Amino acid sequence: MKVTVVGAGAVGASCAEYIAIKNFASEVVLLDIKDGFAEGKAMDLMQTASLNGFDTRIVGTTNEYSKTAGSDICVITSGIPRKPGMTREELIGINAGIVKEVASNLEKHSPDMVLIVVSNPMDTMTYLAHKATGLPKNRIIGMGGALDSARFKYRLAEALDAPISDVDGMVIGGHSDTGMVPLTRLATRNSVPVSQFMSQDRLQQVMEDTKVGGATLTKLLGTSAWYAPGAAVSSLVQAIACDQKKMFPCSVMLEGEYDMNDICIGVPVLLGKNGIEKIVEIELNAEEKAHMKESAEGVRKTNDLLEV
Ligand code: NAD
Repeated sequence: MKVTVVGAGAVGASCAEYIAIKNFASEVVLLDIKDGFAEGKAMDLMQTASLNGFDTRIVGTTNEYSKTAGSDICVITSGIPRKPGMTREELIGINAGIVKEVASNLEKHSPDMVLIVVSNPMDTMTYLAHKATGLPKNRIIGMGGALDSARFKYRLAEALDAPISDVDGMVIGGHSDTGMVPLTRLATRNSVPVSQFMSQDRLQQVMEDTKVGGATLTKLLGTSAWYAPGAAVSSLVQAIACDQKKMFPCSVMLEGEYDMNDICIGVPVLLGKNGIEKIVEIELNAEEKAHMKESAEGVRKTNDLLEV
């Protein structure tokens, strides 16, 4: 199992580290445009192998795509992250050019890859990857919902004063501060709806904190977060590599599902060796449907800025 991660920055390196620590891939290629940067990150990570007990070989390269040839899974994390006060949508000007070029370079060398897009604005970058490559729809996946759901579970556990493993919940919709749709109605603690343990006001607060999860960290760190994003990507990569058929909300091209067409937005999917094995259509109530519709309008507005 060969995995390529483009962008050896904060998220790319964290993602490579988690993949290696989980020890399911034979090789991870880290590629970056900055001279020597990916080679340095790869060497540093390889020097943790004997300490962390993994056998995955991590190789770094400065923009040499021939080294990525034959990758089963490729991840795009290249591009600028947001600074405090910025929205993800503001990154489109620079990141669209980078994602378009990187996606077609990857496709040339790994035509059978499953592609995971991480760069922001992620739903629009995933849509762009569909337009810029000839990959089938099941092999292009945007990562956002897995991270947003992890942040939702963190906030739920905090509000419940419960261990995170007791808590389940999912965030669908667009990967933006206003577009996320945390499904509070379906969130549970050991199968019991969380609404039985907290007031509607507290639940509303959990929802608001989840939606600004990325912005909160950007303000604290001065740049966007990397541990949870890297861990979330590594979970998607593992589900595909190990054919787990595991369910995650991911940004995928919809063709009629959830009454939407020609848009990439977060919905639950099963991930396995073919990438998206199935789009799972769950029954949403009227309020959730309205939130999804609003969220899609936001994503379409950003898509309209693309020149494809
Ligand atoms: P970073 O600046 O630390 O790393 C980005 C790396 O991309 C840099 O090392 C840079 O040299 C490299 N790069 C730029 N252009 C390139 C090109 N053409 N080819 C190869 N490499 C190139 O940024 P980061 O914090 O790792 O964030 C990366 C991206 O991921 C940002 O767009 C950020 O907004 C996004 N992000 C998405 C999520 C998500 O949930 N989808 C979460 C966190 C961050």
